[in-house]
Amino acid sequence: MSTLKTRMKKEINHITSDALERAQQTLRNGDLIGLPTETVYGLAANALSDKAVAKIYTLKERPRFNPLIAHFPNAAEAQKYVHFNEWAKTLSETFWPGPLTLILKKKEDCGISLLATAGLDTLAVRVPAHPIAQLLLQGLEFPLVAPSANPSESLSPTTAQHVKRSFPDLLVVDGGSCTVGLESTIVDLTGNIPVILRPGLLTKNDIEKALLLTLGDKAESNVIKAPGQLKRHYAPSIPLRLNIKNLHEGEALLSFGPHTFTARKEINLSLTCNLEEAAGNLFAALAELDSSQYKGIAVMPIPNDGIGLAVNDRLNRASA
Ligand code: AMP
Ligand code: MG
Repeated sequence: MSTLKTRMKKEINHITSDALERAQQTLRNGDLIGLPTETVYGLAANALSDKAVAKIYTLKERPRFNPLIAHFPNAAEAQKYVHFNEWAKTLSETFWPGPLTLILKKKEDCGISLLATAGLDTLAVRVPAHPIAQLLLQGLEFPLVAPSANPSESLSPTTAQHVKRSFPDLLVVDGGSCTVGLESTIVDLTGNIPVILRPGLLTKNDIEKALLLTLGDKAESNVIKAPGQLKRHYAPSIPLRLNIKNLHEGEALLSFGPHTFTARKEINLSLTCNLEEAAGNLFAALAELDSSQYKGIAVMPIPNDGIGLAVNDRLNRASA
C-alpha cells in the first residue's frame, strides 16, 4: 500500500463550500452527480430513492439485474443498513475507508431502494477514502449508490474529464485523477466462508491475512453471479488482443515494462513493471487507445499476481 499512499498526492482534496453545497443539493433533489472516489468516478444518487436510482440505470443503460454498491461515510452508518458479522468487523476496521466492498445481509426495512439491490436480500456496502467523497457523504442524510460513471459495458472513468465526455450534462465534482484507478475489491461475507467476487487493489492475500483464514472459491460459492461479473464488461470499441507476442499492422500497443516493439501509438502501463502503477493507468490508457484510427489494441502480457490479477480480469472481460 505504500505506493498507493504516494499516489494519493494526485488527489484534489479541497472543494469550495459552494460546490459542496451545490452537489449535495442536487442529490437531495433526486438528481445525479459525478462523484470522485479513490477507485473510479461514480455516478451517484440517493440510495433510498427509487426515482433517483432509476436515473442511474437509465443514464448508464445498465441491465436491471445488476445491483449497486451503497456508499457510507463510516462503518457505523453502514451498520444501520446491513447485519455486520465478525468478518465484516475485522475487514472494515482494517481496510475502511478504502477500496473494499462487503456483501452483507440487508436489514429488513432498511429503506435502500429495491432497484439498487436488484431485489436481493443482500447489500454491497463501502466506505470510500477520497476526501471529497467523505465530505459529501458526511453532510448527507442518506447513503449514495454510485456505480462507475460510464455507459454500461464501456470503460470506467478515472478523471472528471472522462465522465464529462460520456455525460456532458452531468454535474461532476472534480477530485483529480483517481488514485487507485480500478474498481473496489468485492468480498461476499454472506456464505459459510468469505469469497472474493471481484478482484481489486486489495488482494486475496490481504484479505486472508486480515481474517486469518483461507478464502472460498467463487466457482463453488452459491452467490448470484453478479454484475461486474458479466463476461463482457469494461470494453473499448475496437478489438483487444491480449498476451501478444507480436504486433499486427495498424494496432496500437498497450505495453508493460521494457520491450522491442515499434508501434504507431503506444502507452506503457508501467515502464518499471510496477503492477499498482499499471492498474492505476489501465482505464485511462484504454480510453486513449480506443480510437477508430487503430485496427485494435495489442496488450503485452501482464504478470498474474497481486493486483495483476485484477488488471487481467478487467482485460479479459474487455476482450470477451
Ligand atoms: P459497479 O458499481 O459498476 O462497480 O458494480 C457493482 C458491482 O457490485 C456489481 O457489478 C456486482 O458485481 C456487485 N454487487 C453489488 N451488489 C451485490 C450483491 N448484493 N451481491 C453480490 N454482488 C453485488
Ligand atoms: Mg462499472
